[in-house]
Amino acid sequence: MSKHYERVMAIYREASDLHGAAALMGWDQETYMPPRGAATRGRQLATISGLIHERLTSDEMRGALGEARTESLAPDQEVNIREIARDSDRAVKIPVTLVKTLAETTSAAIGVWIKARQENDFPAFAPWVARLVGLQREVAEAVGYEDEPYDALLDEYEPAATTKETAAVFDSIRAPLVDLVQRIGSSGVAPRTDFLERSYPIDDQRRMGVTAAERMGFDFEAGRLDISPHPFCTHLGVHDVRLTTRYSETLPMQSFYGVIHEAGHGLYEQGHDPAHEGTPRGASVSLGIHESQSRLWENMVGRSRAFWRYFFPEFSAIFPDNAADVSEEEVYAAVNEVKPSLIRVEADEITYNLHILLRFEIERGLFADEYTPGDLPAVWNEKMKAFLGITPPDDKDGVMQDIHWSHGSFGYFPTYTLGNLYAAQFYRAAERDMPDLSDQIARGELLPLRDWLRDNIHLPGMTYRASELVEHVTGEPLSADYFLSYIREKYGSLYRL
Ligand code: ZN
Repeated sequence: MSKHYERVMAIYREASDLHGAAALMGWDQETYMPPRGAATRGRQLATISGLIHERLTSDEMRGALGEARTESLAPDQEVNIREIARDSDRAVKIPVTLVKTLAETTSAAIGVWIKARQENDFPAFAPWVARLVGLQREVAEAVGYEDEPYDALLDEYEPAATTKETAAVFDSIRAPLVDLVQRIGSSGVAPRTDFLERSYPIDDQRRMGVTAAERMGFDFEAGRLDISPHPFCTHLGVHDVRLTTRYSETLPMQSFYGVIHEAGHGLYEQGHDPAHEGTPRGASVSLGIHESQSRLWENMVGRSRAFWRYFFPEFSAIFPDNAADVSEEEVYAAVNEVKPSLIRVEADEITYNLHILLRFEIERGLFADEYTPGDLPAVWNEKMKAFLGITPPDDKDGVMQDIHWSHGSFGYFPTYTLGNLYAAQFYRAAERDMPDLSDQIARGELLPLRDWLRDNIHLPGMTYRASELVEHVTGEPLSADYFLSYIREKYGSLYRL
């Protein structure tokens, strides 16, 4: 019998429903909430996260978890107990006073960051970075780690990933990417992009994004698309998955690839087994695996030649005037323009990873006492010069451009590049299983790929940890080779290298 297991799940489901309520409030906060609602909303969200913490750490939960481990459980049940115990252990280990101090410090730091960034005043922000690093170091000490404190932070977003292994994979792509970017820069090839600077009405942009998302198999009866300043995807359940994007009349591809990216995340959430809704067995593995789903659709599919074979007529039908003097190949080249730039979120598929490597190296150095927060502007600019050949004119668009550090989120950035590497390796495995994949995409038949992802990656939920999932699906541990050969082939041809 598994009565203790059932008890754990009953409590966990309440926590999971509370998560759903918080997700809905968070979604509303970014989309429709009137500006003056912010203070109340912040308090309401804090109340809910307190309730979730209580559920996870209650004596009843701890007792039931301990007993459930001695019961004989089915494999799916074991996955749930393993993951719930992980959450609960982590929540128990971090003292409540530390959680509270972190929340208060973060909420003050965000305000300081906004002002310091406006005024280009890094010295005003530096003490807050120091404070947040100190607090996260306390978290790491409380949670425990194998080699270095940064392991504990990375583990929060990418369970079971280690700093050392991540650094080794990142080290293997740094020089090849820097070299490729330099060769592209000196290739003398520059795609035509003038037609993307024309006016693209927002209603039509929306239609273009929805057309692609529907074709990908995103279910709008179980999801929505709204507008927010920072695009995201959130879910209240398998059948309520919400995407957002932002529109600018002269940046049609920003909203288009934003929608495809978020719909990639959304398909992962819609692809979980409804029978396991609200449990780890029916949830996503990690941020890195999540990002692999969005990047695979955005880049490997949406920025492929095959995709534009299918989509160019759709694009021309929605924007007949703007597309009148443009060819399919010109659009394909334009959406794959590589250009070193200051801002991470505007970066192309190749240089994006160099922005991430820079942040990972800085974060690791901060937690290893290699750098102090005061060193960051100089270290940032030095690495920008070495990786991308450009020097930020100021700290506003340099070291202060991202919100993550003011949130106290250290260990988050690496999951973006891990996502790109997983995506390339998964995509190669999909091509192996479906030799005519690219022909299907060229015909606009995207459902076979969605179903392959669903069977191999979405439906197993948290059955496997990220590194196990990669091996299970592709037959090999994570390797950067797939990503490197994918970009070398694609950009070698685009830039005639
Ligand atoms: Zn994403």
